[in-house]
Amino acid sequence: AKAAGGDGSVVYDSRTTGQAAGRLDLQSDLRVALERDELFLEYQPIIELDAEQAVGFEALLRWRHREHGLIMPDTFIPIAEETGLIVPIGTWVLNEALAQVQRWRSNVPGAGNLWAAVNISARQLVTPDFPDIVHTAALAAGIDPAAVNLEITETVLMEQPELPSETLHRLHDLGVGLSIDDFGTGYSSLSYIQWMSARTLKIDRSFIEVLDTDPQRASIIELILGMARTLDLIVIAEGVETPNQLAELRRLGVHHAQGYLWSKAMPADQVTAWLT
Ligand code: C2E
Ligand code: CA
Ligand code: CA
Ligand code: CA
Repeated sequence: AKAAGGDGSVVYDSRTTGQAAGRLDLQSDLRVALERDELFLEYQPIIELDAEQAVGFEALLRWRHREHGLIMPDTFIPIAEETGLIVPIGTWVLNEALAQVQRWRSNVPGAGNLWAAVNISARQLVTPDFPDIVHTAALAAGIDPAAVNLEITETVLMEQPELPSETLHRLHDLGVGLSIDDFGTGYSSLSYIQWMSARTLKIDRSFIEVLDTDPQRASIIELILGMARTLDLIVIAEGVETPNQLAELRRLGVHHAQGYLWSKAMPADQVTAWLT
């Protein structure tokens, strides 16, 4: 919040000072958010385009803060990651999401095969007992681990070249799926993706957004699809908002998508009504 002015004087930027203070505040509040029951999940459907039907739900974390109201993950996940709080919070997310999706699988007609997609941070992934945490959560929820997809951003993968192969092997042994999130925003190599044996690849929204205006992006999606076919990956287009984008994706041969065109992430208690 302190910057040298052009004349060598020191300028205080009240706006960034306020942000830094707010961040410290949030940091200590986040420590107690779990016990105070302030964290909750919303669920966004993943759509299979042929039948235009939900085949899974992605759990997205929200924080109902006592004073500030609703806080979105882009604001507090980085704080959770820096402080390491993402580890206990992430374990809570896994347990909560798997139990919830299993309830829909058991209780909602036609929903027996829904996947549960859960976002995983690097800090969680490198925790030595991470596979046990996933296993325990699946057992407690009574969900088939094969119905679980762990979403890992491409950037995390690139920053984590030491991703323990032990962890990968144990997750694969469990039958859990790995999903490469925000694909196209990083620089992962084919061989790395193959080494991971990922199950799905999620094309970042930035590529979908410009489908209407920038035909060159369509050819990038075609490249991604060709690669995905070679590696036998399911491709999910993220952030689909318009019928035109959908038409374009169908034309390109994308089979799965997610976005406001079908639904925003919604509270768990709205999902049953949405599905039926
Ligand atoms: P993400 O995993 O890439 O999730 C997709 C984000 O795009 C979500 O934002 C979702 O609400 C939003 N979205 C979905 N469809 C559309 C659309 O059609 N248009 C637009 N404009 N946006 C759409 P959200 O919920 O704010 O989450 C932001 C990020 O926070 C997530 O990005 C993920 O990286 C992270 N996150 C969320 N929940 C968790 C969690 O439980 N653990 C971890 N480690 N990260 C999480
Ligand atoms: Ca995700
Ligand atoms: Ca994403
Ligand atoms: Ca993202």
